[in-house]
Amino acid sequence: MKEGEHRILGHEVVGEVVKKGKNISTLNLGDRVAVAPNIGCGHCYLCAAGYNNLCNDYEAFGINLDGGFAEYMKVTDKAIIGGNLMIIPENLSFLEASINEPFSCVYNAYESLKTSPIDNVLIAGAGAIGLLHLILSKIAGAKKVMVSDISDDRLKIAKKYRADITLNPSKVNLKEEVFINTGGKGADVIITACSVPSVQEEALNLAAKLGRINFFGGLPEGKDSIMFKSNIVHYRQLKITATTGSTISQFIKSMEILSNKEFDIQGLITHTFGLEEIKDAFEKVISGKGLKISIVP
Ligand SMILES: [Zn+2]
Repeated sequence: MKEGEHRILGHEVVGEVVKKGKNISTLNLGDRVAVAPNIGCGHCYLCAAGYNNLCNDYEAFGINLDGGFAEYMKVTDKAIIGGNLMIIPENLSFLEASINEPFSCVYNAYESLKTSPIDNVLIAGAGAIGLLHLILSKIAGAKKVMVSDISDDRLKIAKKYRADITLNPSKVNLKEEVFINTGGKGADVIITACSVPSVQEEALNLAAKLGRINFFGGLPEGKDSIMFKSNIVHYRQLKITATTGSTISQFIKSMEILSNKEFDIQGLITHTFGLEEIKDAFEKVISGKGLKISIVP
């Protein structure tokens, strides 16, 4: 971007088709659509394998293309050809469907972890993303889902979303509690849904033998080095993985899950603001109060 140019942010976008190019046959005016924000180049080996989220030459709404914090958003031909627009199922509202972008990223993690009914799961972080991991782990039938967070308010919400155990590491010994609650085994699946290096380090000490760990939240630039005993990974045969963004295929699948309406999707959106109130919306996000905050232009 050149100096002086502005970028419209917003990469969790839903909307209605109000105008279309003459060659667009797959969409009609009035269609309600959700936008998968990452557009792959379409021809590299990663795109060819379906990993548009990992394309080296990707474009993204709200990052290097104008995003959704606006009344109108232009969708490029590349995005339409790439399958980045998806018709929203009839039983989902715009607000509910707007959750699909983060939910598809959570679904990407789920595919890497293959959580099943024999797994005890630990989710570190009970913000909106942690809650989505909790919801999906419950839908996947996990044996027991533990959620940890230093905020009791957030843990209360996790309880509402059917967390089996909530743990506040500022008040209890997390390691002891995880081992007590798993019959001395440790957690089979651990998801770090926060951006705290020490949480990633600690995750290795909480994992069961054959445990799978997903470093879901990226770490801040410059604070992205962690220390751990390599032998823990070795002798416990751990799998450490991570996922970033989501593929078009995952975006479609996670929308299917949303449309099953197995949980209170709308409840995750605690505040909505008009476009003219966008400053207040950002202040609300920074305050840490609320979960998902939506802009309704
Ligand atoms: Zn590509």
